[in-house]
Amino acid sequence: KSKSLQKGNYLFFNDAINTQVQHDLLLESKLHLAIEKNELDVLYQPQIDVATGLIYGVEALVRWYNPKLGHISPVEFIKVAEDVGMINEIGRFVIEKSLTDILRFNRDSDIQLQLSINISPKQLMEPDFISHLIKVTTDMAADHTLVTLEITENVLINDLAKVQPILQAIRDYGFKLSLDDFGTGYSSLSYLSNMPITEIKIDRTFIDKFLTNSQSESLVKTIIAIGQLCDLTVIAEGVETEEQYARLRHYGCDLVQGYYFDRPLPLAKLTSIYQKKTRYPEADSQRDNALY
Ligand code: C2E
Ligand code: MG
Ligand code: MG
Ligand code: MG
Repeated sequence: KSKSLQKGNYLFFNDAINTQVQHDLLLESKLHLAIEKNELDVLYQPQIDVATGLIYGVEALVRWYNPKLGHISPVEFIKVAEDVGMINEIGRFVIEKSLTDILRFNRDSDIQLQLSINISPKQLMEPDFISHLIKVTTDMAADHTLVTLEITENVLINDLAKVQPILQAIRDYGFKLSLDDFGTGYSSLSYLSNMPITEIKIDRTFIDKFLTNSQSESLVKTIIAIGQLCDLTVIAEGVETEEQYARLRHYGCDLVQGYYFDRPLPLAKLTSIYQKKTRYPEADSQRDNALY
């Protein structure tokens, strides 16, 4: 009896792996042509300055729509892109497109948006990552201090001795560095002091439950306090309700981002909403977030 059960489990496990492999192969085959076929796009999610209630900047978030596969989440295809050596090409696309878009926004507007770009660990460790970034920003005459690179703690799984000088070089050129999804990985306080970061981004999972879960609440308060002590900007991601916003404001969080303010927006939508100054929370009730 137990033998056939084991066999059953084994087959199930095997099937699940096969399905995952086939799925990844399918994504990979389509991903190779995605840029050429214009299937990638970048959306922009506003980040709000808590002190003023005004937009501070945006996070660039890549999107992939394939006619056969439909919308594919970046969580899925970034992983595949890393595995098959395509992350550089996609990463460069995001850097070039988002810089072009936000510089245009800034040129045509009274406000100057900051731009945050997600950088995967593999992309960051690529030998010519920095030289490409410098070339693009120089070609576009972009002020480096407008740009924040979001990295995750996974970066630190790589040799810290290798990562540290790369991060330092990025900072020396004037770019900012944010530690994304903070609280979910293996970070320790010593990393914070060893790494030349300028911002910590509290992960959405804590924002989800910090109003009702006292452990998450302590964690959020502590991260904000550490940020203030270390002179780091603290941003909360995944803010979905007015109550969450109010509490984060009360704790002294610097920046907030989430569906309560805006979903990730196409450039045209960002422009139509934000080229005129918009202050939160008053402005929000006027808009229908469900549309995009
Ligand atoms: P992330 O950098 O932590 O981005 C935040 C994710 O949370 C985004 O999902 C965003 O759409 C979503 N989000 C924002 N506000 C809310 C909210 O209030 N509630 C909820 N439930 N979700 C919210 P998205 O766009 O699907 O991106 C997922 C992840 O994919 C990102 O996590 C990032 O790790 C990665 N990613 C996205 N774009 C890029 C990129 O251009 N390059 C790289 N390397 N990774 C990217
Ligand atoms: Mg991010
Ligand atoms: Mg994040
Ligand atoms: Mg996240």
